[in-house]
Amino acid sequence: MTQGIYILLGSNLGDREKSLAKALGRIEGIEGLELVAASSVYISEAQDMQGENPSFLNQVIKADYDYSPGELLSALENIEIELGRTDKGKKSPRTIDLDILLFDDRTMETERLTIPHSELLNRPFAMVPLLQIDPDLIHPGTGKQVSEYLNDESQTEVILYKDYVARTV
Ligand code: AMP
Repeated sequence: MTQGIYILLGSNLGDREKSLAKALGRIEGIEGLELVAASSVYISEAQDMQGENPSFLNQVIKADYDYSPGELLSALENIEIELGRTDKGKKSPRTIDLDILLFDDRTMETERLTIPHSELLNRPFAMVPLLQIDPDLIHPGTGKQVSEYLNDESQTEVILYKDYVARTV
């Protein structure tokens, strides 16, 4: 069964643009996954992190995926490791961070995975690129449009860095 999924890519360490591009390439190589769309790249200040932190580049991709959320998470974790992410704690800079934002219209909460992503509606840097791809998206947890959670002020914290809208279908 094919399901529509959305993944957030983030990087705030090293050559951030290159890390996003590399991760996108690897994501396209995941078995059972077909890329549907990629957002532009956005830049925003690191929030709630330890010490001095470079700003983040973020991008969202939409894909069709044939397997389970757990299998997708494992594939993404492998890519994070391949791209040199060393885990120095949740609030440290990272070469690449890959989060599953939405997985079809599913809601689930396990030890490993919360879907939709638990912080999605608190994070303009995730919502802005997501809504660039699908402006009318409904959050399956709340039943409301994701755009309702984004106010003008928070929107200005997320700046277009590289215009790059690609839709493959
Ligand atoms: P981080 O990479 O620091 O954002 O956190 C990764 C951790 O969050 C992993 O232990 C995952 O099991 C967990 N997690 C929970 N929900 C999600 C999700 N929707 N996408 C990615 N990781 C998730």
